Amino acid sequence: MDKKEQLYEGKAKKVYATESPDLCIVSYKDDATAFNGLKHGTIVGKGVVNNKMTNYLMKKLSAEAGVPTHFVEELSDRDTLVKKVKIVPLEVIIRNIAAGSFSKRFGVKEGTPLKCATLEYCLKDDALGDPMINDLQILACGFATKEELDTISSMAFRVNDYLKDFFAGVNIDLVDFKLEFGKSADGEIVLADEISPDTCRFWDKTTHEKLDKDRFRRDLGGVEEAYDEMMKRVLGE
Ligand code: UDP
Repeated sequence: MDKKEQLYEGKAKKVYATESPDLCIVSYKDDATAFNGLKHGTIVGKGVVNNKMTNYLMKKLSAEAGVPTHFVEELSDRDTLVKKVKIVPLEVIIRNIAAGSFSKRFGVKEGTPLKCATLEYCLKDDALGDPMINDLQILACGFATKEELDTISSMAFRVNDYLKDFFAGVNIDLVDFKLEFGKSADGEIVLADEISPDTCRFWDKTTHEKLDKDRFRRDLGGVEEAYDEMMKRVLGE
């Protein structure tokens, strides 16, 4: 399947049409941004890591946790064939350990284990700075229906249950992560976007070293090395 016209260019990926109206090609870039686009940079090799890790995890989530995804076929190191979906305009954030904006907003020290996993939604809208939004506000604005939200939240917790165990197996604490969901042509809600060090916080269980995009956001150095290390732990390469 070949790339036709570019449909969209985001901060970290480009999306192309294909000869099939139901399929797109996602192409992962090395560009990195943070703080709603205020900080820009390049993380060499990131596109390859994020593409391969996302596909590997989506295949496992589908086969072993019964989570439907947009994944169809990995075409190359950076390119993947996916189902064409309409993205639900929500960032779905699941947390197991306090960090980042949660720690800041609620005054809970970074690293504090949460008594139960939490879920929060942010509206995907760069101009508004992706504001936090609750269930009733989502329904009131029509960003998703009650049925869609029920499906999205239960799938998100299922993803968390599976991934927490998976990452524990490679000595990683899955601190928090962001998911996006899409609606396929036949109305099915599927997991879309990516699962990678760009969208998850990964801490080594033993050393608590950060192995994710916080190394870029917080200028900690060793950014490429952290992405490579995660690739090695997840894919063994
Ligand atoms: N996240 C993301 N994209 C965003 C915002 C957050 O992938 O636009 C991920 C982030 O990598 C982290 C989790 O969601 O794993 C929670 O992020 P948080 O709300 O703490 O925001 P941050 O501190 O990164 O601004």
